[in-house]
Amino acid sequence: PRTAYVRTKPHLNIGTMGHVDHGKTTLTAALTKVLAGRGGAAFVPFDRIDRAPEEVARGITINLAHVEYETDTRHYAHVDLPGHADYVKNMVAGAAQLDGAILVVSALDGVMPQTAEHVLLARQVGVDHIVVALNKADAVHDGEDAVLTDLVELEVRELLTAHGYGGDAAPVVRVSGLQALAGHPRWTASVEALLDAVDTYVPLPERYLDAPFLLPVENVLTLTGRGTVVTGAVERGTVRAGDRVEVPGTSVETVVTGLETFGRPMDEAQAGDSVALLLRGVPRAAVRRGQVVAAPGSVLPRRRFEARVYVLSAREGGRSTPVATGYRPQFHLRTANVAGEVDLGAAGLARPGETVTMTVELGRAVPLEPGLGFAIREGGRTVGAGTVTDVPA
Ligand code: GDP
Ligand code: MG
Repeated sequence: PRTAYVRTKPHLNIGTMGHVDHGKTTLTAALTKVLAGRGGAAFVPFDRIDRAPEEVARGITINLAHVEYETDTRHYAHVDLPGHADYVKNMVAGAAQLDGAILVVSALDGVMPQTAEHVLLARQVGVDHIVVALNKADAVHDGEDAVLTDLVELEVRELLTAHGYGGDAAPVVRVSGLQALAGHPRWTASVEALLDAVDTYVPLPERYLDAPFLLPVENVLTLTGRGTVVTGAVERGTVRAGDRVEVPGTSVETVVTGLETFGRPMDEAQAGDSVALLLRGVPRAAVRRGQVVAAPGSVLPRRRFEARVYVLSAREGGRSTPVATGYRPQFHLRTANVAGEVDLGAAGLARPGETVTMTVELGRAVPLEPGLGFAIREGGRTVGAGTVTDVPA
């Protein structure tokens, strides 16, 4: 029998982000290695985090890989977010649930385009606290290199400040994921210092436990002999076996018959938890990624909303030409990816680098509410980041 998950410490969701090859996956493996030494984790080696065949083939991270660990005071679920611009949409889906992020910046390379893009997206999807891991510090030599590292630190602080993160106060910890993974004492201590910074700088989030249950569906799978399982992170409320739930916008209304977190059964899932929910009598094809599982009657999918949107500049990887009323990009809301048409009102036009208000008519209804963050993508790149301001009746 498997051991049940017992909630002894507050649970937080955290993740690595940053430019490709700056060392996110190596650092993720190092965090589990260092904490395994203290009994706070099972060590997860690099190639188990970066594991899907297409990732190996293309040398880039495609799926969100989850690991878990605990410090003296907290239990963390950690996602190793993808680093390549093509996969920003996955970051949007995963990052929406992050209570804090570790921004990995190579001390040798400094701030790169994806570093800036991830900070911008983190701001848009509501990540409020960022701790910086100035990685590859082992490869920095005394003298000129060390001076460059100080400049990189300044550059990162400026980037954070430019996006409203208070870059002066953010912890910037010089680490080496690679050497910590190799067991080097000095660099093991650097990763411990990073964990301390996360423990102290990222506050305990306020969880909406009293709100009606809502889970954005990330994946749907079939457990042989048991039925259909949906996975994702609980956005709000709580759920227990026996609770009735529905998939708004479909005819699915059913009962939760089992819950798991990281392969362990649990009695109750709360806002912030990563879970798998077993649903009674639901055919696999009846539920899809992008839908939500919710307390019956608590949400109504809608197609039309008003939003405030930042249109990325060309330098940030966005468009070089304005968008006009009638523009039809893809909208990434929670785990959903939906085409929608933009109405820019009297202005009629939005230039790269501008923040504008717009009305959006989606091609299909999804649960919407003021404050919900989203990304706008076109031809495989992020061109805008926004927040829902109103959902008119
Ligand atoms: P990701 O794309 O951000 O996930 O980066 P990876 O973790 O895959 O690392 C990219 C490359 O940088 C690999 O060759 C790593 O061995 C190397 N690397 C990662 N961390 C360090 C470090 O702390 N020091 C040095 N010298 N190299 C590192
Ligand atoms: Mg990686």
